[in-house]
Amino acid sequence: MQFTEFDLDGKLISAIKKMGYETPTSIQQMAIPEALIGRDILASAPTGTGKTAAFLIPAIQYLLDFPRKEPGFARVLIMTPTRELAYQIHEQCELLAAGVHLKIGVVTGGINYGTHKEIFEKNNDILIATPGRLMEYLETENFHAENVELLILDEADRMLDMGFRKEMLRICSEAVNRRQCFLFSATLEGESVEKFAERILQDPALLEA
Ligand code: AMP
Repeated sequence: MQFTEFDLDGKLISAIKKMGYETPTSIQQMAIPEALIGRDILASAPTGTGKTAAFLIPAIQYLLDFPRKEPGFARVLIMTPTRELAYQIHEQCELLAAGVHLKIGVVTGGINYGTHKEIFEKNNDILIATPGRLMEYLETENFHAENVELLILDEADRMLDMGFRKEMLRICSEAVNRRQCFLFSATLEGESVEKFAERILQDPALLEA
């Protein structure tokens, strides 16, 4: 299977090639087509399976298919448990979006509000955030989730283990205009991920890397 077999923009295909990805990994083969037809996704895919590109590629394609109509906060929100993961996702995202004009921001702990304020003012297309810090900005009304159309929860099992269930549910409920949601987890075993997924996903494609 080749990346050209997916219904992807030529610039995105070129970026993928430049990154040296020749063929899609198994989770990418499963997730990309389901995501492109607008389905929610529930995927078990540990680190190393290519899960990051599995959600970033359809997210970028979504933004190209549906350009922003009015200024506002992020349209794609990616939540991930740690600062390190947030920066890794950011790096891959910048490379994949190299040929297209998208604004990508990162909001994590350890950085002062001045820097984040600039990010929020830029009409970001994609925001990558850790849950604790994002919550603070929701509470202080510096961030609003109503522009979020695509919500992506990366390593959801880890965020739940870290005690962020309430924060994740709050962000899901504030993203009132959400059209699609992807939940990626190292494993789907365990009651907490399953119950959480049931609450937030609608008829998801169930995928295992
Ligand atoms: P991840 O599972 O997202 O942490 O990705 C693991 C590693 O695989 C990262 O270094 C990615 O850059 C790389 N990767 C992702 N997709 C592909 C692909 N289709 N072909 C080769 N490498 C890939």
